[in-house]
Amino acid sequence: MTAVLEVDNIVKSFVKKRNLLGIATEHTHAVKDVSFTVQQGRTRAIVGESGAGKSTIGRMALRLETPDTGAVRLFGEDILKMSTKNVRRLRSRATMIFQDPFNSLDPRMVIGQSVAEPLTLHTELRGRAREEKVAELLQRVGLRVDQMEKYPHEFSGGQLQRIAIARALATGPELIVCDEPVAALDVSIQAQVLNLLQDLQAESAISYLFISHDLALVKMFAHDVTVMRRGEVVESGPTAQIFEDPTKSYTKDLLSAIPVMNPRKRSARRELPSK
Ligand code: ADP
Repeated sequence: MTAVLEVDNIVKSFVKKRNLLGIATEHTHAVKDVSFTVQQGRTRAIVGESGAGKSTIGRMALRLETPDTGAVRLFGEDILKMSTKNVRRLRSRATMIFQDPFNSLDPRMVIGQSVAEPLTLHTELRGRAREEKVAELLQRVGLRVDQMEKYPHEFSGGQLQRIAIARALATGPELIVCDEPVAALDVSIQAQVLNLLQDLQAESAISYLFISHDLALVKMFAHDVTVMRRGEVVESGPTAQIFEDPTKSYTKDLLSAIPVMNPRKRSARRELPSK
């Protein structure tokens, strides 16, 4: 297997408080010595409660944030030693989608323009060829071409997230960091967006770093999982193994908090005779 992303022992602190002279007096240790890999065509989930350090890890994976120490290799290259220009070039191969698609799309641009923007930045496509590519991308995520001239406020949350995915796909990325990509959507819409991501993976062997607090989603969606707590890795491994046989009590507690998805199962449980 080929690793598209290798994260080795990354550490990140933020200044929490400064004194009157502006000197840092307190730090938040957001990420403490975290390592994992994302293999080509696979999904690794980073799961944990709010504040566990998940988003910071996602941002460091693409050098949107720089670790204090540690190494990040993207497609085999150490991105912390690269020039900013070269990192920017890599962003056509590795990109990110966020929780709130409304914030990730410019409200003043029609969505056709938003999807065209990465094509302008990272490809040679212009004019008619670029427009055709935008149309193809929108169709790929289940939108109509005639919706290209509409503004973000004219779409639902699920549609907006699909548009954000179209924009992310514009440059043919090999890795997408998905930061809580469905957390802001209705449960009924979540499955549509996740199915789309899964279809894209089946078609093009895209890899995902899937950041989520939702273990039920992670179980369905990810091949590998890294469980985080307060900046540290609790345990890490193939999803099936971690879910079937969690070795750490923290993971067990998280798993026991997953709501029962099938209401019939829940009533069956209630009907069990009490001993
Ligand atoms: P998660 O995604 O798991 O909710 P985050 O990575 O967002 O966690 O945050 C981890 C910790 O780092 C939190 O305590 C958060 O307040 C802190 N943090 C994150 N980004 C910054 C920042 N830019 N400045 C200061 N503190 C930050």
